[in-house]
Amino acid sequence: MTEITRGRALLGSDFIDIGSSSQVVHKLDTRVPRQDRTAHEAAFGVVTAGLEPNWLDQQVRAIALTGRGGAHFPVATKWRAAQQADVGGWTLVVNASEGEPASGKDAALLQLRPHLVLDGAELAASMIGADRVVIWLADEARATLQSLRSALAERRSGLTRAPEIVTTPERYLAGESSAVIRAVHGGPPLPRTTMNPAQPWAGGPPVLVHNVETLARLGLLARTGSRSFEPSSLVTVTDGDRRFVAEVPAGETFSELFERAKVPVPQAVLLGGYGGEWVGWSELALLAVDPHALKEAGRSLGAGVLIALGRFDCGLEMTASIAHWLADQSAGQCGPCRFGLPEVVELVSRLAGRRAGQRDLDRLHEKMALVDGRGACRLPDGALRMIRSALREFAAEINDHRYGRCLQQEQGR
Ligand code: SF4
Repeated sequence: MTEITRGRALLGSDFIDIGSSSQVVHKLDTRVPRQDRTAHEAAFGVVTAGLEPNWLDQQVRAIALTGRGGAHFPVATKWRAAQQADVGGWTLVVNASEGEPASGKDAALLQLRPHLVLDGAELAASMIGADRVVIWLADEARATLQSLRSALAERRSGLTRAPEIVTTPERYLAGESSAVIRAVHGGPPLPRTTMNPAQPWAGGPPVLVHNVETLARLGLLARTGSRSFEPSSLVTVTDGDRRFVAEVPAGETFSELFERAKVPVPQAVLLGGYGGEWVGWSELALLAVDPHALKEAGRSLGAGVLIALGRFDCGLEMTASIAHWLADQSAGQCGPCRFGLPEVVELVSRLAGRRAGQRDLDRLHEKMALVDGRGACRLPDGALRMIRSALREFAAEINDHRYGRCLQQEQGR
């Protein structure tokens, strides 16, 4: 089981190049081979049949395994809630939609290590007594779909519950868990406008949603146990035209990762994804790339997305373009997205375009306060979090822009 002891156990490689597109990852770096079932079992071994559920639960608690889709909710707590709900007919969803456009880690896992994810899905389904497993991914993710279909064909005999693959048009919100549950119940893949947080599936059969990386980690943990489990984090890094997935060993700092990956020192990093936060490099460089360490520092790794802002790029322009994209992804179901977010985005564009004065800035703060916390899903709050972090991080640039200048871009010429 050489892969497990190499220190980068999930991907077995330092960096996976996934191309510059900010859309679904169609094709990965072909130098890294896909593991078929034989290679998978040679690398990781076979999960012991009839693994004791209490033992697995203890291992999950011992390593504090949290969801890697962005929310970092403890896996053991989700399982406990499902077990205590005392209902039958559970569906486990493998959420592979990866609606966060800068992310590619889940596609990388499904294209290179599909069997590790299937092992994790099988284990999680057993833990909650699910009789149905659904793999949820974007229509456009053709290479991922092909890898999954091959993996399912390779282990037709080895799965207790044959997973169904269900695809959906690619959208930011298609991976939001209430949208996934709604779709599994036969509705549109849109976030719920009303939801009982204790029973998010209410109104249909019970559903539990796990992210792909979470399940791959579970598949690994079932072999190693907590004592030999090597913690790591999967991140997708975007640096100008380059985009890659990296598996970062525990304790490695952002500065060490960027140096190892030959990413030039940035001004700031958008940490966590489009709904994340801009963090200045001076603060981030010496922090560990680890969800637990970042939480202690008051930050979040989110969906593991790191967008590096080059030294001569304008953070306000990038903020405005991401805010536009987010507003376009809204389903327009709720007031904040219909009436508030478009004006917020227009005001941010004015700031970026050097057309804003103090009045616009005041209006932006007022408008954001009205939108805050009022949507059915996290999209508007995520957009506001990202914009607020830009107002803090790029305060000097806002001032320059008011006088019609952008020193970052002028220095880069
Ligand atoms: S808050 Fe916006 S994006 Fe979220 S469900 Fe409502 S309208 Fe859709």
